[in-house]
Amino acid sequence: NYRSRSVYKLIELDQKYKLLNPGNVVIDCGAAPGGWSQYISQKVFLDITKEEKNSSTIADDNDGDDNLIVADRKEEQEQKGLVIAIDLLSILPIHGVNFIQGDFTHASIQKKLQDLLKGRKADIVVSDMAPNFSGQHLADHVKSMDLCEAALSLSDQILKSEGSFLCKFLMGGTEEEFKKRLQERFKQVRYEKPDASRPKSTEGYYMCLGYKNNIEP
Ligand code: SAM
Repeated sequence: NYRSRSVYKLIELDQKYKLLNPGNVVIDCGAAPGGWSQYISQKVFLDITKEEKNSSTIADDNDGDDNLIVADRKEEQEQKGLVIAIDLLSILPIHGVNFIQGDFTHASIQKKLQDLLKGRKADIVVSDMAPNFSGQHLADHVKSMDLCEAALSLSDQILKSEGSFLCKFLMGGTEEEFKKRLQERFKQVRYEKPDASRPKSTEGYYMCLGYKNNIEP
């Protein structure tokens, strides 16, 4: 029961690249209505209760210890994992997701994000941000690339070394130039057009792995 169809693109890329893992720190830019954030939260705060219970039924001695272990591990992950979502629009609350409403490109919003991070670095920054379409393809392309630039410059401040970055853009000519800058910063940069993305749409994604040039504190 995801809130967006768009989530299937993220699921496809996650399955291909094993992006999201329990305990990760993840930033979701352009999160409304919340499909990506729902999936991210499920992966980061993995429902170990279900998993562990299934495996423990085999040797269940019914003394209740298993439940304690599960509760401890769950608490540990919830302390470790952090999901921050941002959008211009509001979203209905999602378990474990810290939501900031506002314009991602504004310094005040990025300051709020830094405050929530409390000095921690992100494992992954994802951006599914898209501008309000004007109908003029070139103008929309340029706006979309500006959003990518903003997401990348934030990543430069908060991404862990070896971290990942995923961003959506609308094709239109200047994406190759942007890709070159991505290649300077990441070990691997791939163009992706997930099956779940409508073939006719001009959207594409850059999947970037292995953030370089960053010294961890
Ligand atoms: N991934 C989302 C999901 O699964 O529900 C769908 C995202 S939707 C395609 C794109 C979102 O980007 C819109 O909700 C829009 O409000 C947001 N957006 C566009 N420009 C933004 C900006 N400057 N700051 C924050 N959000 C922005």
